[in-house]
Amino acid sequence: MNTIIINGADDEAFSDAAKALREGKLVAFPTETVYGLGADALNQDAVKRIYEAKGRPSDNPLIVHIAEVYKLKELVAEIPETAALLIEAFWPGPLTMVFKKSNLVPDIITAGLDTVAVRMPASPIAQRLIKEAGVPVAAPSANISGRPSPTTSKHVIDDLNGRIEYIINGGPCQVGVESTVLDVTTDIPVVLRPGGVTLEMLEKVLGKVDTDPALEIKGDKKPRSPGMKYRHYSPKAEMFLISGESDSIVKKINNLIKESSRQGLKVGVLTSRENAHKYSADVIVNAGSVKHAEQIATGLYDSLRTFDEKKVDIIYSETFEEKGIGRAIMNRLKKASSGKIIEADKEK
Ligand code: AMP
Ligand code: MG
Repeated sequence: MNTIIINGADDEAFSDAAKALREGKLVAFPTETVYGLGADALNQDAVKRIYEAKGRPSDNPLIVHIAEVYKLKELVAEIPETAALLIEAFWPGPLTMVFKKSNLVPDIITAGLDTVAVRMPASPIAQRLIKEAGVPVAAPSANISGRPSPTTSKHVIDDLNGRIEYIINGGPCQVGVESTVLDVTTDIPVVLRPGGVTLEMLEKVLGKVDTDPALEIKGDKKPRSPGMKYRHYSPKAEMFLISGESDSIVKKINNLIKESSRQGLKVGVLTSRENAHKYSADVIVNAGSVKHAEQIATGLYDSLRTFDEKKVDIIYSETFEEKGIGRAIMNRLKKASSGKIIEADKEK
């Protein structure tokens, strides 16, 4: 298949892509979180092709994207009070809510669940595409399943060129990690996946918000967001996270670098800007300053993909504070490393 890559500012090409989406084709497009791979959510054959193009397991449901609040009504059985408050506060934006679904939503979207996840993206390109297509748009991240999500059109091209009809180039994504997934079907809403809207922001609006206990990687509980059970967001090389006090982390990583280099391995390090100069390794990726966690989030997946490009054999990563957007950053790093965490302070 030929993939046409279009400039998001080219009006005519844009209309072609919107028309293709309406006609059941696959179109990758930028959102403020990551690039999405879109199909008409009400067209089962089109949605099936999303799973095929990504190699996505069929038991992992998709988020439906809308551009106008009134479109929510036809997709869901009810809109709880809490959801109405959150729509007011955070839509359009990086918050996905899980509702009881309406009969209109096909099973292939929800992987057979009786709930549906819906989001209204803030990115003007995403909004315009959904409006012009005139259909609700199912869109998971536009990457091959398991790989780091795409935050530039180049990432999408690397993964999906030749597998989908259109890729809209709209520059790099601002948030850089996926939306927060929040179940609003219970009295107290539950965070199923941390993301662009932080727990603190949700608590400000709602007071109490719960977190799915399965998000604690070490536990063996089944996550309620099916997608959270897979190894995910992963660079090709094996990755380890090092936790502890900053000084101990640096010392431990330097010891690990030496050990791996001695074994002839090409070593990558993911570090904060504050510590970047303290390492000597084959590939050192400065993720940004710990004082600006939102900037670390913006570049996170590009950082992880850099290790693939440089073909390192093993990656050691610092850990970041789990507050605010840091929760989403650490959730993705834990998934990317399959939960392999080395505690630096234990072995001084
Ligand atoms: P992605 O679009 O690839 O970023 O993944 C979407 C995330 O939303 C995955 O973790 C899904 O499991 C989750 N999700 C989608 N629909 C539902 C639903 N009905 N209930 C719970 N989680 C969902
Ligand atoms: Mg994804």
